[in-house]
Amino acid sequence: MDFEISDKMKAITGMINEFVDRELIPLEPEFLTREFRELLPVLEEKRKMVKKMELWAPNHPKEYGGMGLNLLEHGLVSESLGRSPLGHYVFNCQAPDAGNIEILHKYGTPEQKEKYLRPLVEGKIRSCFSMTEVELPGSNPVMMNATAVKDGGDYVINGQKWYSTAADGAEFSIAMAITNPEAPPHLRASMIIVPTSNPGFNLVRNISVMGHSGSDYFSHGEVLFQSCRVPQENLLGPEGQGFIIAQERLGPGRIHHCMRWIGICNRAFDLLCSRSLARPISPDGKTLSTKQIVQAWIAESAAEIQAARLMTLHAAWRIDNLGAKEARIDISLIKFFVAGVMQSVIDRALQAHGGLGMTDDTILAFFFRHERAARIYDGADEVHKVNVARTILKGYEGRKVR
Ligand SMILES: Cc1cc2nc3c(=O)[nH]c(=O)nc-3n(C[C@H](O)[C@H](O)[C@H](O)COP(=O)(O)OP(=O)(O)OC[C@H]3O[C@@H](n4cnc5c(N)ncnc54)[C@H](O)[C@@H]3O)c2cc1C
Repeated sequence: MDFEISDKMKAITGMINEFVDRELIPLEPEFLTREFRELLPVLEEKRKMVKKMELWAPNHPKEYGGMGLNLLEHGLVSESLGRSPLGHYVFNCQAPDAGNIEILHKYGTPEQKEKYLRPLVEGKIRSCFSMTEVELPGSNPVMMNATAVKDGGDYVINGQKWYSTAADGAEFSIAMAITNPEAPPHLRASMIIVPTSNPGFNLVRNISVMGHSGSDYFSHGEVLFQSCRVPQENLLGPEGQGFIIAQERLGPGRIHHCMRWIGICNRAFDLLCSRSLARPISPDGKTLSTKQIVQAWIAESAAEIQAARLMTLHAAWRIDNLGAKEARIDISLIKFFVAGVMQSVIDRALQAHGGLGMTDDTILAFFFRHERAARIYDGADEVHKVNVARTILKGYEGRKVR
């Protein structure tokens, strides 16, 4: 078993870490106090720098201008970028575009690739993904009300979606809607590309999440599809295969997220350690770091981060080598485990900062609010745990254990 990171990846992550420290972390005070949209000009400058450094779109196909890294390699990149909330956006590997790029690359027609995939990889446009509905459980998305009915050469889409991340300012959405209502549940929905300029696409609002509606890329939209008419050539992949394609989109996406969360853990851990060493707690000059309880936070965090990191890299290696289907339990394990580790590590770091931790003078309160969602999107903790347990238990059925 070889745990060595290649020279290529050492060089790439070294450059990225330096860039995040020098160019992105200093922008965070503005990011925390201004609307994301107001930051677009300065972020565009940073994006140009990334392109010049040839680190643009690390996980996206080379033929469209990306670096073409495999999942394991991109996991390491995602960890480095995750240390700042601006990292993935500035390197053009942010969700939900990253997942949309993957499925457009795999299922897009040549015309769809030219029209949507190429400008997406080039960073000229953004996109969103509209599957979850207000009235029905996202945990069981086969329960879906949105429909796409054929009419002449078009689909006419109706439905109410929400949590279409980054819909504000997106050029198009990949929408999920029922096209084959008579088919078995998993074969009823299709993915359809809907330009947001379509009069039937209505961004109702940016939902206020944890007290913040956000704007542009940093937002979550409620979207109403009202008699939204798109040509049938906007179907992405085969009709009725929407859920199957959505599953494919989620496997690698969970690796990206988990490694991003480990980047967040690393940042919170750095803050925890440096604050503990610097903060006096008694007149004799003793600091927080002399308290066993804080030492336990540090040791426990270090162990949990290392476990989470190794599990995630192993899952990425299994997807790269055996495919997402073979690795589905590994993916479920990391999805809930790493989200939980992140929550604990951020919480300890925030606690160690006392009142300062609650302010927006450090990045910790943002992480605390924003990353709580990790235990809900891409499969809530409980759904993954049930899947894991069910599979494990199957292996014990009919087995005598002494
Ligand atoms: C920040 C964020 C970004 C998102 N981005 C997108 C996006 O870009 N596009 C998109 O389409 N959707 C997106 N979503 C939606 C997300 O996919 C759903 O929120 C998620 O699937 C859960 O669905 P739900 O919210 O309807 O909760 P429900 O399905 O109603 O579940 C509620 C709770 O019930 C429990 N539960 C559910 N099912 C089970 C079960 N089988 N066993 C045990 N317990 C269970 C869990 O605790 C779960 O948290 C996003 C969500 C968030 C929070």
